[in-house]
Amino acid sequence: MNQKTPTIVPITPEQQQQVIERTSELLQQCQHHFGRAFKPIDARFDLRGRSSGMYVLKNKQRYLRFNPFIFAKYFDDSLATTVPHEVAHYVSDILFGIKNIRPHGKEWQTIMHKLGVEPKVTGNYDLSGIPIKQQHRFSYACDCMTHQLTTTRHNKIIAGKARYFCQKCDQQLNPKRVNQRIAVAP
Ligand SMILES: [Zn+2]
Ligand SMILES: [Zn+2]
Repeated sequence: MNQKTPTIVPITPEQQQQVIERTSELLQQCQHHFGRAFKPIDARFDLRGRSSGMYVLKNKQRYLRFNPFIFAKYFDDSLATTVPHEVAHYVSDILFGIKNIRPHGKEWQTIMHKLGVEPKVTGNYDLSGIPIKQQHRFSYACDCMTHQLTTTRHNKIIAGKARYFCQKCDQQLNPKRVNQRIAVAP
């Protein structure tokens, strides 16, 4: 029987508030450890897909993005690991400059240790029930099989900027589906 996975409901405003409070607690701890204050940072709950958190520095604006679905399914673990993970990115940017360090390098790791969190890079989450953006794929064929190419690769081929070859049969990949209007260079 084909059982449908129940879809996870995103975290509540109260839970969002807990995340915000956890963020400021962590910044307090960093202030204590590094002897300097860190400005409060905005938390947005608009991240989708497979990532649970993200630190953003864009147009000199800094903010954190969290995935309200993954947080809903793994709330305690998200508070314990994802929030400090992203806060440590923010703090390492302020202390060292994001361009001067590797994202999960020793500076970030040191901050994680100071926060008492193991500096792990990925969470091992079962994402069933969580909306994942379906990436569009384009079917290409060689002599031996069908290949699913990403939109990025597909566009490069169309623009004549790249050619891809099958690693098994060495044949160049050609668009497969005729109902996709694909311009093929001769
Ligand atoms: Zn990271
Ligand atoms: Zn092949």
